Amino acid sequence: MKEFQHVTLPEGDLITIDDGRLVVGDRPIVGALRGDGIGLDITPAMENVVGAAVNKAYGGKREIQWCPIYVGLEALQRYGEVLPQEAIDAIKYLKVAIKGPFTTPIGEETHVCLHCAHQQNHDGTCDNCGKTDGVAARFRSINVGLRQAMDLYACVRPVAYYQGVPSPNKYADQVDFVIFRENTEDVYAGYDFEQGSDVAEAVIALIKEMTGREIRSDSGIGIKPISETGTKRLVKKACEWAIAQDLPSVTIVHKGNIMKFTEGSFAKWGYEVATEEFGDRFITEKALWDDHNGKMPEGKILIKDRIADSIFQQIQTRPGEYSVMALPNLNGDYMSDAAIALVGGLGLGPGANIGAEVALFEATHGTAPKYTGMDKVNPGSLILSAVMMLDHMGWTEAAELINKGMRQAIIDGHVTYDLARLMKAEGREDVTEVSCSGFGDAIVERM
Ligand code: NAD
Repeated sequence: MKEFQHVTLPEGDLITIDDGRLVVGDRPIVGALRGDGIGLDITPAMENVVGAAVNKAYGGKREIQWCPIYVGLEALQRYGEVLPQEAIDAIKYLKVAIKGPFTTPIGEETHVCLHCAHQQNHDGTCDNCGKTDGVAARFRSINVGLRQAMDLYACVRPVAYYQGVPSPNKYADQVDFVIFRENTEDVYAGYDFEQGSDVAEAVIALIKEMTGREIRSDSGIGIKPISETGTKRLVKKACEWAIAQDLPSVTIVHKGNIMKFTEGSFAKWGYEVATEEFGDRFITEKALWDDHNGKMPEGKILIKDRIADSIFQQIQTRPGEYSVMALPNLNGDYMSDAAIALVGGLGLGPGANIGAEVALFEATHGTAPKYTGMDKVNPGSLILSAVMMLDHMGWTEAAELINKGMRQAIIDGHVTYDLARLMKAEGREDVTEVSCSGFGDAIVERM
């Protein structure tokens, strides 16, 4: 076993990869990044639920060995920096990890407090919460840093309706799809050049010279690269997911009618990878109608594409027609939030960032600092991310127990304040507001 300075590996089995497949022992060591703010509350609730589900599913034969890995506030206090190399090395070594939310500085100030997310222009004591051990100099997003350091190129967001959750959409109960958003290219690898800057002016001149096209001289210029490599590995992951989960279709979403060689190529390369890599498992809409009169042949998965603006209508009017979607970075960003809103908001949406070998599962909301340590917030996002993690590890029985427990807890109205408020506003009178840990207990009782 590898040795680290601050990370202490518990006794257990290292998860390995053999011929592209995850090898998971009965006592796998899994990385746990607690997160800032309400990470303090939701992480223990998640570990409690996962422990109970695994125990129940496998009669005590299996058990996850959590390995704390320090990032954000916990890292600042140990290493003096928020994203130490050791944390990245440890996650890579363990292959599977789960994380809470992390503070990201957003304003102009030079420092941010990792306890309460207050921003200020000096180090030392936080002007807002008065704590002395959490103020860090401005840094780049930890979430983006983790994705880039490990090349976690697929951002995976399952979106499903939970019976009893108030939703603004009439067809919410048909929503059950997984979004694969490309995590490294497009605007994430893009460059923005300010109006009047040397580069902006040079690009405008170059385009005029090489194509004859005019761009207004007072324009800012943005560049968004989308590559064949980046597209194919993302769409391949989406296709693998559809095959593994026995799902009926993969939809490539793009704006290729306007941007032919970035968005349009995304669709073209997506079709190529589906047909080149998976034999005859996938069938296009054209072949479906030309050769099968629109009737899906047994054992096939439909590969189709939709223009980005139309898919935003379709997920509201015909969500049942979509099961896996693959999108470039920016469209995927919009789609992830829009889809979650369809089923009642951000509280329950799980997520993962997946690369060639490493998978990092994550709560999708932020640190909600005003609720830190109050045992109040909804741990649903992190718990459902753990469900994805268990599925990824092949421990599907434990994953299903958690799903069952959570569905029933919501149906019974045993929910945290956020859902309780929405349910009461819809006129439900049998709602019992429970704490963060109490929601975990309510799930365990119903497994
Ligand atoms: P936020 O998601 O932390 O909170 C906004 C509001 O949403 C909260 O005040 C709360 O009312 C509600 N909320 C969030 N999570 C909840 C939960 N689990 N249960 C119940 N209610 C919940 O967003 P913010 O206030 O804009 O950001 C706070 C900090 O979190 C910032 O530093 C931001 O950069 C960071 N952030 C991190 C991530 C991440 O790590 N993935 C994502 C978003 C924001």
